[in-house]
Amino acid sequence: MAHAKFSPSAAHRWLSCPGSMIMEKDMANTSSAHADEGTAAHFLASECLERDRNATDFLNCFIVIKKGNAEWDQEAAETRSGFMVDLEMAEFVQKYVDAVRSQAEGNELLVEQRVNFSSFIDAENAFGTGDAIIIGQTEIQIHDLKYGRGVKVDAEGNEQLKLYALGALSDFGMFGDFTHARLVIHQPRLGHVSESVVTIEELYDFAHRAKNTVQMIKAIDAGTALFQEKDMLNPGEKQCHWCKAKATCPALTKAVIETVAGEFDDLSACDLEAELKQAVEDVPQHENQTLAKLYAALPLIESWSKAVSIAVTDKLHGGEQVPGFKLVQGRAGNRTWSNAEEAEQVLKGMRLKVEDMYDLKLISPTNAEKLQKAGVIGPRQWSKVQDLIVRPDGKPTVAPESDKRPALEVNPLNDFETV
Ligand code: SF4
Repeated sequence: MAHAKFSPSAAHRWLSCPGSMIMEKDMANTSSAHADEGTAAHFLASECLERDRNATDFLNCFIVIKKGNAEWDQEAAETRSGFMVDLEMAEFVQKYVDAVRSQAEGNELLVEQRVNFSSFIDAENAFGTGDAIIIGQTEIQIHDLKYGRGVKVDAEGNEQLKLYALGALSDFGMFGDFTHARLVIHQPRLGHVSESVVTIEELYDFAHRAKNTVQMIKAIDAGTALFQEKDMLNPGEKQCHWCKAKATCPALTKAVIETVAGEFDDLSACDLEAELKQAVEDVPQHENQTLAKLYAALPLIESWSKAVSIAVTDKLHGGEQVPGFKLVQGRAGNRTWSNAEEAEQVLKGMRLKVEDMYDLKLISPTNAEKLQKAGVIGPRQWSKVQDLIVRPDGKPTVAPESDKRPALEVNPLNDFETV
């Protein structure tokens, strides 16, 4: 499959930090089990929308991912190597399917539609695949399913969806008199749907800015402009989080260390360990303003630390020398049965009591609810079970001012009791 260089899913990064396109070049893409699970959920959703079926019609069917593409494969049931459509996946995917179907009524629905926005940003092969695109009379809708359980994503200002909208305008603009695009992000596992409306003028304005960034990146890539670190690299939580270059990025390293330990001229010349130790000791003395700045930078600092740790581990595993560090044998894992069935037979032969032989544990309310949904627990039984489920209040937690939950009023003399 051809790979879009100016990928919409990474647009939040290359538009905020153009240098990331150069820094990430030649770095391998990796696929994770989470990404594959998302691919499987997208496949199920597209099968439902295209074949006019419901997600539960595919219960217990297996999806396998081959070279990034999903397909049905019942043989995977034997090896349990793929993703089985269970009740949980079916329910979450159905929420998205229902929302898209209700919007598509009376309009044109395009599922897994590839759209090309090359002409808007002046880049070859700039395309992406919209999960669902709905063409109305005056409105283009872009629906994006995000199946992860990570952070909630806002549709407002979302660069990926704006590029899809431009692609849809480019490919289907002749079929309507469009005034605006509706961008919708569905995150069913987080119970989150975010929607925003952007006018066609605002989209053109965005395309113009994107085109300028693309031109700058292309000039550096072609060697007709110099890579100026201060102009090209722009560290920030959103863009750095999934950047493949974060372990080696000089701008991110500088930003993190300067945030924690203050200005420095030359990383190789400063005693980093001593500076950081001092920085830790200084934390309680900071003004609230400084603490707020540090607190806001924590996700970026944490993701940078993790990237450095992974990079050092990978290099040592790859046989490279990292001064001052080596690989050693870690602590042995927990003891386990080499053959659980054989162990069970041997223990049974000793006539042990069931309670001595097995760790019996009551199922959780979540698993009880699964039994209710599967019809194992009936409605009347379920109401009895429900009466026994409690949920303790959450502990007070720090959140940004923009968080929708009301701020707790705190009496400092009486801990967190509401006054
Ligand atoms: S780590 Fe951050 S600053 Fe560095 S290239 Fe990636 S996105 Fe840009």
